[in-house]
Amino acid sequence: MAKKSLGYTELEWTCPNCDTRNPGAKKICLSCGSPQPDNVEFHQPAQETLITDEKKLAEAKAGPDVHCHYCGSRNSATAKTCSQCGADLSEGEKRKAGKVLGAHRDKAAPPITCPSCGAANAPDAPKCVQCGASLVSPRPAAAPGPAAPPPAPASSAKSKHKSHRRPTPQSKTSGGMSTTGKIVLVGLTLLMCAILAGVVMLLTRTSDVTATAAGVTWTRSIIIEQLQPVTRQGWRDEIPMGAVRGECTQKLRREQDQPAANAVEVCGTPYTVDTGSGFGQVVQDCKYQVYDDFCQYTSQEWQRVNELTRQGDGGMALQWPALSLAENQREAGRSETFLCTFNTESGIKNYAGGPDMLEWCQPGSRWILKVNGLGGITDVQPAR
Ligand SMILES: [Zn+2]
Ligand SMILES: [Zn+2]
Ligand SMILES: [Zn+2]
Repeated sequence: MAKKSLGYTELEWTCPNCDTRNPGAKKICLSCGSPQPDNVEFHQPAQETLITDEKKLAEAKAGPDVHCHYCGSRNSATAKTCSQCGADLSEGEKRKAGKVLGAHRDKAAPPITCPSCGAANAPDAPKCVQCGASLVSPRPAAAPGPAAPPPAPASSAKSKHKSHRRPTPQSKTSGGMSTTGKIVLVGLTLLMCAILAGVVMLLTRTSDVTATAAGVTWTRSIIIEQLQPVTRQGWRDEIPMGAVRGECTQKLRREQDQPAANAVEVCGTPYTVDTGSGFGQVVQDCKYQVYDDFCQYTSQEWQRVNELTRQGDGGMALQWPALSLAENQREAGRSETFLCTFNTESGIKNYAGGPDMLEWCQPGSRWILKVNGLGGITDVQPAR
């Protein structure tokens, strides 16, 4: 996923001293004048507008603010010395940055009703215009200081953060298995073992069968291939040389993180990330779907068109089938098989082997066949 920046927006912080909402860039509370402590978190305003002012943009991009290690005052990332006490800021602590605050709030926010007097206030009003009460939703009393409970926006931000991401498919069924399931599984395993054992026994257990050879049959074959047109499909740049291209259509080839020509951008919901400077960066996770020409093409390929065979018995000389190839044909492999045929009490049985059969599989000779449970011959021994 590529992160695409849509711009910057000014965040807010709530003064822990008087509950006044302050613009993110303000380092001192607008209402009571307290300096912003380093443990105050920035949160999203009810309505976020992207900054166009050059000076504010520069502040937003400067990076996380630095809190003076000597007096605690908040300073811009670009400052070398503390604006309050003049201390060297190289040892100061940078504000944390990178936290996802929530989905970008680009819609007009409704007015806030004062919890004390009921007056309607602008969504970004620091305090009630009528009675001066705090417009911040009441927080649990007491317990200030460093271990203060996380402000409400943090938790809602978390869930929003999740919502802009694709839910990862996580199967819940992969957990435990019921006892019945286990019993069934064990039963099935035992059954499989029994079947396997049965097959092995059928194949390995043999019985002796007396037989008389009837003679050999041999088969020799030659595979013939022919160069002929074959129509296939593929990406335009992967069509083999010499192929004739047919119709092409645009098709999704891959998804990637980086933008590219001919790519369709697919982006998730924009969300706001704390930059630590009192400003938030509005970003979007995007991926790029690259489309390409997918074409039909026709190429000349060797295709198997025929198999010539010649058969004979032990009384004939071994011979290959007569071969005559056309200009666009070629030979693509030769093979030979030998079959000794036996007469037994239970009928005719065939045994495949090598050319040595021509010697030993003489008509009328007597043999003991080892026959397995499936009727196959596993060995042949001369009868005494
Ligand atoms: Zn204040
Ligand atoms: Zn200082
Ligand atoms: Zn009021």
